Amino acid sequence: CCVLNEDGKIYFLHGSRGKRSILGSKCTSASLCRVVMEGLLTRCRALPALATCNHQLSGYIPRRFPHCAPGRGKRLVLSCMFQPQNLREDQVLPVEGRSGDLTCKSQRLMLQVGLIHPASSGCYHLLPYTVRAMEKLVRVIDQEMQAIGGQKVNMPSLSPAELWRASNRWDLMGRELLRLRDRHGKEYCLGPTHEEAITALVASQKTLSYKQLPFLLYQVTRKFRDEPRPRFGLLRGREFYMKDMYTFDSSPEAARQTYSLVCDAYSSLFDRLGLRCVKVQADVGSIGGTMSHEFQLPVEIGEDRFAVCTSCSFSANVETLGSSQMNCPACQGPLTETRGIEVGHTFYLGTKYSSIFNAQFINIHGKPSLAEMGCYGLGVTRILAAAIEVLSTEDCVRWPSLLAPYQVCLIPPKKGSKEEAAAELTGQLYDHISEAVPQLRGEILLDDRTHLTIGNRLKDANKFGYPFVIIAGKRALEDPAHFEVWCQNTSEVVFLTKEAVIELLSHVQVV
Ligand code: ATP
Ligand code: MG
Repeated sequence: CCVLNEDGKIYFLHGSRGKRSILGSKCTSASLCRVVMEGLLTRCRALPALATCNHQLSGYIPRRFPHCAPGRGKRLVLSCMFQPQNLREDQVLPVEGRSGDLTCKSQRLMLQVGLIHPASSGCYHLLPYTVRAMEKLVRVIDQEMQAIGGQKVNMPSLSPAELWRASNRWDLMGRELLRLRDRHGKEYCLGPTHEEAITALVASQKTLSYKQLPFLLYQVTRKFRDEPRPRFGLLRGREFYMKDMYTFDSSPEAARQTYSLVCDAYSSLFDRLGLRCVKVQADVGSIGGTMSHEFQLPVEIGEDRFAVCTSCSFSANVETLGSSQMNCPACQGPLTETRGIEVGHTFYLGTKYSSIFNAQFINIHGKPSLAEMGCYGLGVTRILAAAIEVLSTEDCVRWPSLLAPYQVCLIPPKKGSKEEAAAELTGQLYDHISEAVPQLRGEILLDDRTHLTIGNRLKDANKFGYPFVIIAGKRALEDPAHFEVWCQNTSEVVFLTKEAVIELLSHVQVV
């Protein structure tokens, strides 16, 4: 391990007590280390802006970080965010009719606020705010999946045709499968799901023992489906993110236990996001298997219909019921029908795929035995859009608190206004929060568009849905200064001192 010392020399750390010596004197592979480190050092010196951005750098404000002034840490400023033009009302492009597509509230808002940008039919660019929210969602998913023993993998999108021919899905999936050939004429599809790939992967491990099972393998990757009617933005795309988990157990009983474990993890995930999903019995469709449930988020524009019994806990997708069925098959009670968005889907597969690909393990009697499988999908990009669909107002995006791209937006006074003297206080508050509430580092945005009135910027902040908007208005000039704090999730507005702001924000959960 080499370090660049304060004196500008490269030191080689050796021994367990962290003794230092100048590189070259004690290092056994000295010349190699020297070449590497000196190369790095040369590059560091050539990039003073990068190397010293967080430190004092007398009078020089590097262009790369326009928000980074001498003596301050990095501040995130709104004016430097990559945000398409369509936020300001006078610049909003008409969303409807752009491509003749049907739209819904979440799609319209996500386009207007600059969360997504259309690329081609059913394909969207995910812009910085959306990527931040999605990364948070993936972290929550990781926590839930790993809490039940999930191990994360990442499989190629390019999936060889022979895998799909083996399961007969090359033909069954029809035109939904996006197919292509490489330069040698070999056929592939872009993975719409990965049962074949994961089962072949597990089958390639010839010495698995029952003692190692269950395996809960999952990934969060792009999926490709040539949907007949891509619509509603991220709700039904042709390229989208899915979390797909595949489980391998040593017996049907164990597999059923795993099945309910994963379903419980899904319920816990939706609880944490504040989304009231209903778990309903579902059709197994082209994936196959013997038992299946969908997690439906009730909302009028949902493309699914499901029935809920008003007297017992029965609920099912109407596809699974006879067309004239009005009563609950479990208790004969009346059924009510609701529309929903399918945000998750679970399947108990049995040996459907393990028998095709010969995914075996050595059982307790020392004999090879087929793994009992389950597969479990969550529509990652669909969950984001569905959450926005159910939580937002007609004009303003609302997020599950945990997923808000930034937790706090600070609005300093307008340039030239009576309150302008409080401008510096906002900057100080920014640094103070970052220091006192470590989980909020990187979560605070300063709306530095001080040519706009506070009112205009508050309106924008409201559209973006930051959980906390903090304004330095008239009362910031009082002694002590009071900041106006808008708490989006409780719809409260309070005036707080710096200390009280910190106390309030210290309770914010960030994932
Ligand atoms: P749908 O019935 O809505 O077409 P599906 O049953 O075909 O979905 P699954 O194969 O169960 O979808 O995929 C798992 C999850 O992936 C779904 O529960 C959904 O949340 C998400 N998903 C499926 N298709 C899309 C899509 N076209 N765009 C966005 N998310 C999708
Ligand atoms: Mg499904």
